[in-house]
Amino acid sequence: MPSEKILIYLSDQAVRDKLENGTLRTAGYQVLSAEVRGAFESMLSSSQPDVVILEDVLPDGIGLELAGKLIESHPQLAIILYAKQHSDVLAVNALRTGIVDYLYSPLKSKDLLAAVRRACEHNTRLERWLRLETRRDTKTLRRRINQLEALNQVGRKVTAVLDLDEVLSAVVDAAVELTNAEEGSLLLLDQNSGELYMRAARNFQEEFVRTFRLPVQDTLPGQVLQTGKPLLLHETTPKKIKTAYLVHSLIYVPLQIQDKAIGVLGVDNRHGRHKFTEDHLTLVSSLADYAAIAIENARLYATSEIERSKLETILTKIKDGVIVIDHDHRLILANQTSREVFDIVTGNKFAQPINEIIHNDDFINLIQKETTSQPYRGEITVQDGRVFHAQVTPIPEVGLVITMQDITHLKELDSIKNDFVSIVSHDLRSPLTAILGYVELISRVGEINSQQEEFINRVQLSVQNITDLINDLLDLGRIEAGFDSQKEIVAPVAILELVIEGYMARAFDHQQSLEIEVAGHVPTILCNPIRLRQMVENMVDNALKYTPQGGKIILRSWAEDQQVFIQVQDNGPGIPAADQPYIFDKFYRARNVAGNNLGTGLGLAIVKSIVENHNGRIWVDSIPGQGSSFTVVLPIADQEL
Ligand code: ADP
Repeated sequence: MPSEKILIYLSDQAVRDKLENGTLRTAGYQVLSAEVRGAFESMLSSSQPDVVILEDVLPDGIGLELAGKLIESHPQLAIILYAKQHSDVLAVNALRTGIVDYLYSPLKSKDLLAAVRRACEHNTRLERWLRLETRRDTKTLRRRINQLEALNQVGRKVTAVLDLDEVLSAVVDAAVELTNAEEGSLLLLDQNSGELYMRAARNFQEEFVRTFRLPVQDTLPGQVLQTGKPLLLHETTPKKIKTAYLVHSLIYVPLQIQDKAIGVLGVDNRHGRHKFTEDHLTLVSSLADYAAIAIENARLYATSEIERSKLETILTKIKDGVIVIDHDHRLILANQTSREVFDIVTGNKFAQPINEIIHNDDFINLIQKETTSQPYRGEITVQDGRVFHAQVTPIPEVGLVITMQDITHLKELDSIKNDFVSIVSHDLRSPLTAILGYVELISRVGEINSQQEEFINRVQLSVQNITDLINDLLDLGRIEAGFDSQKEIVAPVAILELVIEGYMARAFDHQQSLEIEVAGHVPTILCNPIRLRQMVENMVDNALKYTPQGGKIILRSWAEDQQVFIQVQDNGPGIPAADQPYIFDKFYRARNVAGNNLGTGLGLAIVKSIVENHNGRIWVDSIPGQGSSFTVVLPIADQEL
């Protein structure tokens, strides 16, 4: 019994009835019929018929046109055209449209059933073909997926596995498996001998692999290496690769790194006659790319490893201490010297906060001073009394690098020198006072001529200079020795005003403007007022001294972040960048100083000592030709907090 569904779309009621209820249903088909287009279309989509019988002239259009559209949208549908009146032209057009059969009035049951049967057979054939095609396509697709998966696996190995042997073996294995080859090999060029050797292999004897050597000249792999072009061969008589190595078919592809071939990946068949295809060649080429990447990665890794271990050796052997911390002040690296200086035990984990590892206030304070990306320096005294000069270098991608040099010896020398200077200065002061006294008396005891008076003035000036120098030296010695430890709560602005008052006349004489600018309330600080005044005076004195006539000097003060800022700004000659790091050193005079500018080179050294004695900081910002500004930051007195 047939089970196919037939959908009839005819306008003639009598014929429709005959087909539906008579012939077709009796023959066992499931029959649906429609008289108008709307009903036909909804039945077409809801019941999915196998065969459609259409009339050539429909109330709402031409049957053949509808048939054409249906064939386009439902290619699996078998369509029979029924003509009320036969015409040869219509029959030919019907065939050209692609309908499976053509019937015309008067319709005989026998013809109708034969046509429907043929239409059903057409469908069955189509279905069978479709199933077969799909199976074929699925098989091809599955094979492709397997190939891609294999490639993917090798790709993953290249990125995840560091062992080059393992990656290259995986590459050769995949090449053999994906091409169904009997053997596979990866040949690399030995730079020293200029020969190819087997770096990885599959299905070759171990001894053969170990002793394999092939010249580049006049060999197939050599040809691929030299031309950079792959090779796919299939020969009826076996081709010789080397003695006792004859193959029927092969694929060789070059391993290229930046357009330079470094080796060859190959698969071959020695016994079977199985041919390789272009598809196989593409697969082996992809695998060769992976192998080239793996080899290059391994080379880069080895190079960076060598560099890293060189650097590590340098850091370990270096006599200076080196500590590297990240931006969160966690330990990244500490070399042997620094470990020994700070008693860092090897067990201390990297990435541990540095203040849990190093318990030295100087060190911790120093690393916390980082404000800009500029390197800065400081001194660190460790528990056993050694003193280190530390340079802190901020590196944006890393954090902070702290290098430390042992300057204990220099410190001791410095202290001996200071003691000596201070004793000598002290002993010189009394005779100098006597000289000054007696020089003043000369004019009182008798007549002197104008030349003698000039000589006396010069002696007085020189003695005054030496006295200034000695006073500065003694001051510095006292401050450095910490003799000024007595401090009191002071309003800094009052001191600044006193300084301004003291220098107003001198500024007026030099036609310089000297101003004070105080922003908001400036809190009190704990300090030695005499030293604070000396500190400000030295800075203002320099500004007036170095700024030419008509210049402008501003003394500023403000408070910020629990700190008091004092700044002296001038529009004088500025300080060359190369001199700036040293101007706070004793006796240092920058190259901007004109020969006639008197000075000892101790003023800023005294300023710096006073600032440090008050737990503050000082720095200079200066642009040659535009001016300088010296900024001091001091902590607010505790009672203000
Ligand atoms: P000096 O006795 O030479 O003034 P200082 O220690 O006070 O010694 O200053 C050191 C050097 O810094 C000076 O010799 C000068 O070159 C430079 N300097 C200091 N202040 C200024 C300034 N306001 N303008 C330009 N240069 C300055």
